[in-house]
Amino acid sequence: MKVVVIGGNAAGMSFAAKYKRNKPSDDVVVIEKRDHISFGACGLPYFVAGMFDDTERMISRTPEQAIASGLDVHVNTEMLSVNRVKKQILVRKQNSEQVLDYDMLIIATGARPVIPDFGEYRSEFVYTLTSQADGLAVKKALGDNNKQRIAVIGGGFIGLEVFDAAHGLGKHVTIIEREEHIMSQQFSPDMIKVVEEAIRDSGADLKTNTSVLAIRDSEQDGYIIDTDRGQVDADIVILALGFIPNTELFDLPKAANGALLADEFGMTEDPHIYAVGDCAVVHHLTLEHSVYIPLATTANKQARMMADKLAGKETHMLGFLGSSSLKVLDYELARTGISERMANMYNMDVSVSTIVDKNQTDYYPGQEDIALKLIYQPESHELLGGEIIGKKGAVNRINALAVAISAKLTTEQLGYVDFAYAPPFSRTWDALNVAGNVAK
Ligand SMILES: Cc1cc2nc3c(=O)[nH]c(=O)nc-3n(C[C@H](O)[C@H](O)[C@H](O)COP(=O)(O)OP(=O)(O)OC[C@H]3O[C@@H](n4cnc5c(N)ncnc54)[C@H](O)[C@@H]3O)c2cc1C
Repeated sequence: MKVVVIGGNAAGMSFAAKYKRNKPSDDVVVIEKRDHISFGACGLPYFVAGMFDDTERMISRTPEQAIASGLDVHVNTEMLSVNRVKKQILVRKQNSEQVLDYDMLIIATGARPVIPDFGEYRSEFVYTLTSQADGLAVKKALGDNNKQRIAVIGGGFIGLEVFDAAHGLGKHVTIIEREEHIMSQQFSPDMIKVVEEAIRDSGADLKTNTSVLAIRDSEQDGYIIDTDRGQVDADIVILALGFIPNTELFDLPKAANGALLADEFGMTEDPHIYAVGDCAVVHHLTLEHSVYIPLATTANKQARMMADKLAGKETHMLGFLGSSSLKVLDYELARTGISERMANMYNMDVSVSTIVDKNQTDYYPGQEDIALKLIYQPESHELLGGEIIGKKGAVNRINALAVAISAKLTTEQLGYVDFAYAPPFSRTWDALNVAGNVAK
C-alpha cells in the first residue's frame, strides 16, 4: 500500500507519523512545497513579542528526522494536479516534474491568509503572520524604534495575539474590526465587552464597526489606511482577516468557504482520497454537523484518528467542539462547543445562562471576576457549549466544561461535579458548579 500525503505540517505530519507507526511496511510519502516540515505557527505571536528568538523552537521535527523514522519526505516539492482515474499526482521539484502513484491520497494542504485587494501600496511593511518568514519579518519591523504605530486589520485570534505582542513591546496599536465586536465568531457581545474595554483602557485604539477600504503609502514612509469611518496612520500594517483553504487543485465537493467536504473519518467523495486539517471540515460533536474549525488541535487529533482508522484500528474520536483559548492583556478567553451565534445559524433552540462569579477566595491574593456563559438544551438541560472570560483560571475551566459536554452532562450534574478546591484556585463551589446550579 502506498499512501501519499500532500502537505507536511500539523495535519500531514501527524497523519504520516502515526500511520507509519501503525503500518511500518506501507510506503508513506510526504510532499511539502516549503523547505521545512512540522512548523508550529501558533508560536509566532510569542516569537514576534520577543519571548524567544530561535525560530527552530517552532519546528518539532526536521525532514531528516522524519526520513530516519521511515517516512519518504520530499520538501521543496509542490503537488500540481491529481488524476483520480489513474490514482496519480503530478509534482514539481525545482524544475523537474514527476508523476507519483498512490493507493490512498491524504490532502493536508492547510489554508492561506486572506489578503483583500486594498489597492496599491508598498508591501514592505504590510504583513500577514503565518509562516516562519512572516515571523522573522514582523519581529524585525517591530524591533525598529522608528516604527511605533501598528495597525492590525482584523480582531480575531491572530489580530488580538499580534495586538498583545505589539502592545507588550510598547507600540501604539490600532485594531480595525469590521464587525460590531472583536472575536465575534467565538464570543457573544455581552461576554467580550470586558476585553474590549481593557483594550481601550490600555491606550490602544479599537475601532469596531469599521471597514478598511484601501491602504495607501503616506509621504512620511508609512501608510494611510482609509476606512469607512476615517483614516488611520500606521508604520506597520498586519493583515489578520482570516484564512482560505488551499483546495483549488482538487476537483472534489467543497463547503462554501472552499474547505473539502469529508465524512467524520475524513473521507471525501472519493474513497481513495481523505482530507484533514485547515483544508477540510470536521464533525462537530454537539452540532452533529460538519463545520470548519481551522485549529492545530483539530488538525492533529483528526489526523491521528484517521491514521488509526485507515490502519484498521479502533478509533475513539467523539467529534470536535472547537475549544479554543486566547490571552489578551491580563485576560484569559476560552470557549467550547456551540455558541449562541451557531445556534441561530443552525436554527437550534437553546437556553443560555450567564453568571459573573469569582475565580478564588478573597483572602488569597489574586481574586478576580470570572464570567461564564453556558449554552444548553432547553428540555434535557444537556450542556452544548460555553464561554469563559476572566483574568486567571478561565482556560482550565473551559477544559473541564469540554469534558462535561463530551460526557453529555446536564447543567444540574455540572452543579455537583466534584471539582478540587483550595483557596488559591477556587471557592468551595467552583465557578463552574455555580454556573451549573444557576442555569434553569
Ligand atoms: C499565528 C498563528 C497562531 C495560531 N495559534 C493557534 C493556537 O494557539 N491554537 C491552535 O489550535 N491553532 C492555532 N493556529 C492554527 C494552526 O496553526 C493551524 O490550524 C494548523 O497549522 C493547521 O495545520 P495544517 O497541517 O492543516 O495546515 P498548514 O499548517 O497550513 O500546513 C499545510 C502545508 O501544506 C503545504 N502545501 C500546501 N499546498 C501544497 C501543495 N500543492 N504541494 C505541497 N505542499 C503543499 C503547505 O506548504 C503547508 O506546509 C495558529 C495559526 C497561526 C497562523
